[in-house]
Amino acid sequence: MHAWKIAHPGLVRDYHKRNTITLVCSQCQKEFQKVKYYITQTQKERPNAKFYCSRKCVALGHINPKAVLWKGYWIVRKIINGKFKRIFVHIRIAEKVLGRKMKEGEVVHHINGDKSDNRHKNLVICDNHYHKFLHERMARLWAREHLSKNPNPILA
Ligand SMILES: [Zn+2]
Ligand SMILES: [Zn+2]
Repeated sequence: MHAWKIAHPGLVRDYHKRNTITLVCSQCQKEFQKVKYYITQTQKERPNAKFYCSRKCVALGHINPKAVLWKGYWIVRKIINGKFKRIFVHIRIAEKVLGRKMKEGEVVHHINGDKSDNRHKNLVICDNHYHKFLHERMARLWAREHLSKNPNPILA
């Protein structure tokens, strides 16, 4: 199959084009075409499987509907033992990936600096020390870009 695919990419493309299905995006409700070949077995088996038209909709679709923005972060408010608690969505995501609770001294850093961008590729779990280093480095890079005409000796 693989060798045939390489030898006749046009044929494979045509085959895929003829074998598409019209789906409704779970996020923006727009209709879009999806090649049947790329529908996974789990999606076929699940009656309430979600489909997204674009990467943007995938990201938006994974935001918890109960989440609200607080100081730039997505948080969920919960009442624990009669007290209001803020649960950071990015910490939850990290814990899901780790398969355990975050330990003391561990932090989740947003790589692109956008605290509301919780896509997996934008999150890195690190310790306090490395986190501080990352932010200092980000500040230095920012300064080099914006203040290069009057360099700040502290940031240089
Ligand atoms: Zn969409
Ligand atoms: Zn950070």
